[in-house]
Amino acid sequence: MHVLNNKKPRVLIVDDVPTNCRVLMNSLKSDYDIEIATSGEQALEMVIVNQPDLILLDIMMPRMDGYEVCSRLKQDAALQEIPVIFFTAKSDKEDEAKGFEWGVVDYISKPFYIPVVKARIKCHLEQKKKRDLLLRLASIDPLTGIPNRRHFIDVFGVEWRRAMRGGSSISLMLLDVDFFKQYNDTYGHTAGDECLKTIAQSLNRSLKRPGDCAARIGGEEFAILLPETDALGAALLADRIRQDIDELGIEHSGSQPYGHVTVSAGVATTTPNDKMERQILLNAADEMLYQAKERGRNQVLGREL
Ligand code: GH3
Ligand code: MG
Ligand code: MG
Repeated sequence: MHVLNNKKPRVLIVDDVPTNCRVLMNSLKSDYDIEIATSGEQALEMVIVNQPDLILLDIMMPRMDGYEVCSRLKQDAALQEIPVIFFTAKSDKEDEAKGFEWGVVDYISKPFYIPVVKARIKCHLEQKKKRDLLLRLASIDPLTGIPNRRHFIDVFGVEWRRAMRGGSSISLMLLDVDFFKQYNDTYGHTAGDECLKTIAQSLNRSLKRPGDCAARIGGEEFAILLPETDALGAALLADRIRQDIDELGIEHSGSQPYGHVTVSAGVATTTPNDKMERQILLNAADEMLYQAKERGRNQVLGREL
């Protein structure tokens, strides 16, 4: 999503002999943030940590060649949208065709004719920017402006795999507004909508880490994903989130004994392994939410798996 802000687009150049494309790097660095990887393996690691906007990929490399790098990228839902341009000394038409079969967007051959290379990169980045914008619109909940269920499911998948690779814990919080049907019945649907917006804003204010993600996943239900957060950290944060909403003091006469809007939440924490489906974390958080409701609402219950 880097091309959506004013930062320079990030271009990753992958070549086992980077001096080979020194001229290319020098001519691109005024317009782009250039990063270099000198092997396919290194490129994949870098891409996972920080997605570039475009990849210029050498085909002929020892161990893992460009085709292999490309196929790995295409297998990963989070990475498959990054445009890849192959470059190579080969100028064989069959190789070129093979490149397109692997899902690359373009093909440039050495020696580079810089003006054309620049024009092609610019063109692919502009298209990426449009695709990113569409994806962003498709991931936002129009009422509250925070991510929607679809986006949440995507992020959950990405973070689950990241936690598995890194052996780190991940926590998931499911939050549901208490007696919200009655809120609508008492104050009207428009006021109900306003209340949901206010809660969404409160969630965003309560979250501090860039990796945390709060989404509206259903009518008056929100999910908050907390990567690299253990059970204790998640319990503290979840209760602060609950308390922040409590302290908004939004009048709700039908919600007794408090008389204002409150929420209940369930939290589940685990360190994922490859035998685990991420659905179990959702189910556990949902079960904790159910119990929080049963025990009187306006509270958070957590469980570690
Ligand atoms: P509980 O404390 O057990 O969660 O009770 P509840 O009334 O919140 O739960 P229930 O699931 O029975 O009702 C949810 C209500 O949320 C139903 C509907 O009136 C309201 N709701 C769902 N989506 C929206 C929305 O987009 N806008 C508004 N204003 N209300 C919504
Ligand atoms: Mg509900
Ligand atoms: Mg509810």
